[in-house]
Amino acid sequence: MSVLKVVIIGAGIVGTSLADELTARGCTDITVLDRGPLFTTGGSTSHAPGLVFQTNGSKTMTEFARYTVEKFVSLDAFNQLGGLEIATTEARWTDLHRKRGWAQSWGIPGKLLDPQQCQALYPLLDADRVLGGFHTPTDGLARALRAVTAQAERATERGARFLGHQEVVEVLENGGRVSGVRTATGEEFAADVVVSAAGFWGAQLGAKVGLTVPLVPMAHQYAKSTQVGPLRRGGLVGDEAFLPILRHQDQDLYYREHGDRIGIGYYGHRPMPVDMTTLMADTASEAMPSMLPFTEEDFTTAWAESVDLLPALSDSKVEEGFNGVFSFTPDGHSIMGEHRDLPGFWVAEAVWVTHSAGVAKAMAEWILDGAPATDVHECDLYRFEDAAKSPEFILKTSSQGFVEVYDIIHPHQYREEPRNIRVSPFYPRQLQLGAHFFEGGCWERPAWYDANAALVTELAEQGVPFPERDDWSGRFYSPISIAEARWTREHVALYDMTPLTRYEVGGRGACAFLQELTTNNVDKRVGSVTYTLMLDETGGIRSDLTVARLAEDLFQIGANGPLDMDWITRHLPPTGVTVRDITGGTCCIGVWGPQARDLVAPLSAADISHQAFGYFKAIQTFIGSIPVTMMRVSYVGELGWEIYTSAENGLNLWDLLFDAGQQYRAIAAGRIAFNSLRLEKGYRSWGSDMTAEHLPAAAGVGFAVSAKKDNFLGKAALDAADAPAKVLRSVVFDDPSAVVLGKEPVSAGGEVVGYVTSAGYSATIGRSIAYAWLPADVAVGDAVSVAYLAHNYGATVHAEPVVDPDMNLIRR
Ligand SMILES: Cc1cc2nc3c(=O)[nH]c(=O)nc-3n(C[C@H](O)[C@H](O)[C@H](O)COP(=O)(O)OP(=O)(O)OC[C@H]3O[C@@H](n4cnc5c(N)ncnc54)[C@H](O)[C@@H]3O)c2cc1C
Repeated sequence: MSVLKVVIIGAGIVGTSLADELTARGCTDITVLDRGPLFTTGGSTSHAPGLVFQTNGSKTMTEFARYTVEKFVSLDAFNQLGGLEIATTEARWTDLHRKRGWAQSWGIPGKLLDPQQCQALYPLLDADRVLGGFHTPTDGLARALRAVTAQAERATERGARFLGHQEVVEVLENGGRVSGVRTATGEEFAADVVVSAAGFWGAQLGAKVGLTVPLVPMAHQYAKSTQVGPLRRGGLVGDEAFLPILRHQDQDLYYREHGDRIGIGYYGHRPMPVDMTTLMADTASEAMPSMLPFTEEDFTTAWAESVDLLPALSDSKVEEGFNGVFSFTPDGHSIMGEHRDLPGFWVAEAVWVTHSAGVAKAMAEWILDGAPATDVHECDLYRFEDAAKSPEFILKTSSQGFVEVYDIIHPHQYREEPRNIRVSPFYPRQLQLGAHFFEGGCWERPAWYDANAALVTELAEQGVPFPERDDWSGRFYSPISIAEARWTREHVALYDMTPLTRYEVGGRGACAFLQELTTNNVDKRVGSVTYTLMLDETGGIRSDLTVARLAEDLFQIGANGPLDMDWITRHLPPTGVTVRDITGGTCCIGVWGPQARDLVAPLSAADISHQAFGYFKAIQTFIGSIPVTMMRVSYVGELGWEIYTSAENGLNLWDLLFDAGQQYRAIAAGRIAFNSLRLEKGYRSWGSDMTAEHLPAAAGVGFAVSAKKDNFLGKAALDAADAPAKVLRSVVFDDPSAVVLGKEPVSAGGEVVGYVTSAGYSATIGRSIAYAWLPADVAVGDAVSVAYLAHNYGATVHAEPVVDPDMNLIRR
């Protein structure tokens, strides 16, 4: 039994769920403090209407919701009425097909219904307004307060205590760790672990310990109608409900019954961020700070649209309403994790009732076992770039998150605002070449270049296919990307690799540190480059890295993003090793293609022949008079180099390479071409193809685990692991025009057995390629089918990699 002493700040649905999950695991010395009375504390949970629609584009969030439903059902705190999402536009109807696909991929039962079937389930609907619906029988209404009290009672029986009217005003520290909290009454509560489950107060509490918790409290309208005739079923009162919960996302609306009245939630109004200082200064809101006065004028459209959809409401009116406050984040996901600079201080915030028990379970596992069983990288506190942590950025993006909460979001849709935050030194030239920029990690990244449009015609005349795309897959896309990919394989192209996150790890202990932290052997000669993995204690893949040894005690690391810096920093020894993010101060051009050497060799001060500069090697030299680090690596699977220099030299380097490349008809190429080439070559993308839920062998990166190393983080778990039940496979589509975009369900033998992780069109073989997690017994050559919107595409499991299995292209 654990003797950990835990204080949880907040007795809402998250705090109480966490107390239950921790005590269930034997961690029973728990004090839950709340500033309000128990258990109607005045937080968001106190008035949550409790609709739980489980299906989400995120596998993690869906898993959290699925667990929450299962648990609340077991606590008699869930009314499993089913959920119905209806479409009143063609775009939504198509999107509900996509949603059905997510449900199948993540294991949530659900069916598409025609208008009459929708009306049979929900008789108040005007079937003429509806094109169809998606029905999920296991969705329903969480009785949030019942779930709170049931879990609090259970936790109390196991030893936890819950105290109301105890506002935490200070987090105490001792010896660089959290040691407890002080409340407004002056009482101190000692703790080894403090978890802030303070809901929309989370950012304020974080600020007390120097932590940015990127959430914005926003008001959202919820109203109840007067009695609705057809719902008068003989004396029904209170919150009883019999109809499925209903979403009308085309108008940003959702509905539930409250006895013989209808509750209406609305996301179509202007974003209403709440200023916490004003909120708390208002004594009227002290009793229920999360309920602000109803602004009727913001609800006019909501009511008119509701009457239109549910004509029975025409005899009714809005009886009461409020603007309820809860948290929004820049990317819509929750915020979970431990403060890196104050060990023992954790946060679990911006969590809907829908995901609450799932989040709490993952938090309990994380706190007690070191890692959650579900991959939580989408929710990790440290997922944000520094550039995304300004109050202005957080406010703008979270407000946009509110506006888009029910919008149809394309998987490749990129943020429109704020933009132009981080640009590479090549940006002016990219503009001149007609780059179409997508945003990622606050960087402007060229997706394709209009300057290459003529290549489409040229290649088409040579017989290269450019399949038409349907409206959905044709968005955020241009056939120019096919030409760019093909040109890379046949000639040479320049790729802006600047946004690739780069660190310098240095110091006398640097090599030993990286040996312990990663799976492959990096203790090689200076000038070696190694592909390696970082694992957690359970053997799950935290990231994949390219590690270049530039000097005895100096390594340059190509990483995936801010989570890597967090992971590396947490594992640094107290002295002897430093890590520095050099991404912004440097830049990188990938020069790849069969003519890459012809282009670069005349400019290079060093001999870059295959004999002198082999594959997976690095040198420091000059291109013209520009000092560079060159690495012979290629994520696109072609001859060539990543050429790094400091930012002030970037534009000159670009001009030198681009101008010299003109005799070889070198082009600048974008991210879509890059992605399709890496798929052909079998290279995984961390975060979509593989995450902390996957072991290296199953993900097809077992080659990056050195069998000779005695010890590295995660090795014990790998040694003890069974053969994987599911593996990442490459599938190639039979129909040359088939395109999928990711997360689609994959069937074998008529059953859904897996899901797509990432996909792209291969210009080399003239077919789309996708990666999918599939049962290990689905073998190369087996037929599968992939459901994309309303289509089913046949595909075949393919040996990997699809292109250049013998590495001839890369090693020439
Ligand atoms: C109108 C409305 C409708 C919604 N509808 C749905 C829905 O249908 N489905 C859904 O899933 N979600 C819905 N939500 C969102 C959901 O209600 C919240 O996300 C959820 O309740 C948050 O739970 P929590 O435990 O994190 O926060 P809270 O319930 O706010 O709990 C946080 C607690 O922390 C306490 N606290 C704060 N600071 C301190 C301090 N310094 N010291 C001590 N205690 C402190 C507060 O008093 C509070 O009790 C809705 C929200 C609103 C406003």
